[in-house]
Amino acid sequence: PVDAAFLRRWLESATAAVEREAPRLTELDSPIGDADHGTNMRRGFLAARTAVEQEPPPTPGGVLVLIGRTLISTVGGASGPLYGTLLRRAGKELGEEQAVSAARLRDALRAGVDGVATLGGAVPGDKTMLDALLPAVDALTGALDAGGGAADALAAAAAAADEGAAATVPMRARKGRASYLGERSIGHQDPGATSSALLVTALADTAR
Ligand code: ADP
Ligand code: MG
Ligand code: MG
Repeated sequence: PVDAAFLRRWLESATAAVEREAPRLTELDSPIGDADHGTNMRRGFLAARTAVEQEPPPTPGGVLVLIGRTLISTVGGASGPLYGTLLRRAGKELGEEQAVSAARLRDALRAGVDGVATLGGAVPGDKTMLDALLPAVDALTGALDAGGGAADALAAAAAAADEGAAATVPMRARKGRASYLGERSIGHQDPGATSSALLVTALADTAR
């Protein structure tokens, strides 16, 4: 079951992955952005970890809402409000329950990803974080519907997110800073899709 402790472990793993990969995320953001995605993610996740350590919320929903709120208030870039919305919306969806099933987590993540789409106005193929997040939620849904266990379903979601991030390379950006480059955005992997894959992989690692 997914409880507050599970999501705190996820936050530890996600923060470690963001710290480790921050240079690569910033490097991906230099040809098609403003070279700050790694810095933005690092600042946001370190602040979120501190916030959760200082006053650990008792429910899984509470952990997600606190992380989301912290990302919104500490990350200046587009990714802060977008990831913040994802996690806050997902957290609110979980309500006050102490522990939820993998299916409930999946529904909450789906609602969060819908929130990202509504806020940012992007659709699949626009070369954004949604190109990793949507395949991940779809894979999670498919694996759980097929009767798979939570750990295997999350592993399938992580693989789908990785593939989704890689598939942004030939896309032309239609949202965010990269869209200013038009055709010249083609041939580069989207930084936000890459960080989304890291976050989903951390979730799969936590469930293993
Ligand atoms: P900024 O572009 O403000 O510097 P970041 O570099 O932290 O912010 O994040 C950039 C990432 O945000 C992009 O790679 C993309 O995945 C994501 N992004 C930007 N705009 C949107 C949008 N409208 N919808 C979804 N994702 C977006
Ligand atoms: Mg940037
Ligand atoms: Mg920026």
